[in-house]
Amino acid sequence: MGFLGTIRRYFEFRVNKIPPAINYDITYRCQLNCEHCYFAKSWVKDRKDDELELTDEQWIRVFKKHYSLGITNASITGGEPTLRMPVVEAAYDTFNTIQVASNGLRKIPERLKCVIWVSIDGTEETHNRIRGARCYQKIMRNIEDDKRIAISMSLSTTNYKEILPTIEACQKTNVKGIFFILYTGQLSDSLYLHGKQLEYTIKSLYHAIDEYGDFILISRRMVELYKSKKHVKDCCFRTGLVQSYYPDMSRKLPCVMGPVDCRTCGCIVPVYMYWVKRLDIETLLKGDKMLEVSV
Ligand code: SF4
Ligand code: SF4
Repeated sequence: MGFLGTIRRYFEFRVNKIPPAINYDITYRCQLNCEHCYFAKSWVKDRKDDELELTDEQWIRVFKKHYSLGITNASITGGEPTLRMPVVEAAYDTFNTIQVASNGLRKIPERLKCVIWVSIDGTEETHNRIRGARCYQKIMRNIEDDKRIAISMSLSTTNYKEILPTIEACQKTNVKGIFFILYTGQLSDSLYLHGKQLEYTIKSLYHAIDEYGDFILISRRMVELYKSKKHVKDCCFRTGLVQSYYPDMSRKLPCVMGPVDCRTCGCIVPVYMYWVKRLDIETLLKGDKMLEVSV
């Protein structure tokens, strides 16, 4: 899905109100226990029943139904979606394009020519500490030379000083690039970046764009929004342009992160869409690379 596709879908939504993209949390399960995991928090807050996940057959029916309504793009998330690989494959076989957000512990079959977002959150020591397991080496081996993969680094007070070493290490794996999201939760959360720590983060991100060029998959203007939060007002989740669902297919509100305080928002999706709507060329080109399916 290139940037022209993204723009077309946005304008189609304005006319027919069919969301161009849906995000499905297909499972609540995960092998890890990350300190910043919004999924576990949102699940508990919304008091979901752990047993309630759609079966493979139910997911297939949902995907087909949504596709027949005109939804052509799906983001597959969790929990860890690769723990339900047949559902990931069914999504791939149904929609025109999918993106899968994974912790990278399991490889996604090569026949799936899709975009895969794999989380790396710092140097080996920091990543393992954040993720609660010695998983870094295995993930780095799994992602090597896989051009479907874009690295996602979640920045928080734990790792905001490790942006540059993380980029260096990820560049060596020969994946397509890296993007950054900022911890989103409550204003009082200890992981939330603000004040001087936020300033440092923003400066480091600008520096990364200057220094590492095309390998960085976010634009300068997107970085600007991580600081100003101007994107919150017309966030694409809040307007219904993108919708999110829990593993039992109940609606997840307001967005993929569940019940969080929007004033802390560091989510890449509304930040990207803000500049897509305003046709910012650098953002469109970065998005194109992020969403291109190169194998
Ligand atoms: S890998 Fe993802 S789903 Fe699993 S605990 Fe970490 S943040 Fe949560
Ligand atoms: S926290 Fe969620 S709903 Fe709020 S602005 Fe960010 S992405 Fe949108």
